[in-house]
Amino acid sequence: MTTQGKTYQFKLVLLGESAVGKSSLVTRFVKDHFDEYRESTIGAAFLAQTISLDDNTTVKFEIWDTAGQERYKSLAPMYYRGANCAVIVYDITQTSSLDKAKSWVDELQRQADPDIVIALAGNKTDLEARRAIDTKAKYADEAGLLFFETSAKTAHNVTELFTAIAKRMPLEQ
Ligand code: GDP
Repeated sequence: MTTQGKTYQFKLVLLGESAVGKSSLVTRFVKDHFDEYRESTIGAAFLAQTISLDDNTTVKFEIWDTAGQERYKSLAPMYYRGANCAVIVYDITQTSSLDKAKSWVDELQRQADPDIVIALAGNKTDLEARRAIDTKAKYADEAGLLFFETSAKTAHNVTELFTAIAKRMPLEQ
């Protein structure tokens, strides 16, 4: 039997401070792999991955993984402009990374497409013993964001994060 399914394509951008695990989350999602000693992303990297929501519905994400370094900051609008969804990542062991994440939320809410779906991801839950930031579900809820705490290392909530975004996307265009 052939399926007559439809594939919906969306541009997704990852933003957040350097070393919070943006590339690792993408690698976990796309390749189901984790690399402890990966090289930093220069500029931005592009990957694609699909999620089947049901027999008839597939969501394809074109993923732009941006470099977090301050010196690449001026490039960011190029990636979030025209983005349908964004994952803003912080590291639950680094307080500064949450401040940075909140400033990305502000910037996107002011300057990105008004319909952009934004998810906040508190990464590195495997480092619970070094947690410096309590769960930010309330902040995310008030800001209208999807929210997950994740671990690219153990794969905790990674599929759940991207699936929740897929389900939030407008599929009847
Ligand atoms: P990016 O600069 O935000 O893209 O961060 P990377 O993906 O390059 O990760 C930065 C460092 O954090 C690397 O050494 C990763 O191995 C590590 N890392 C990423 N995600 C996790 C995680 O969930 N748990 C732990 N323990 N380390 C992680």
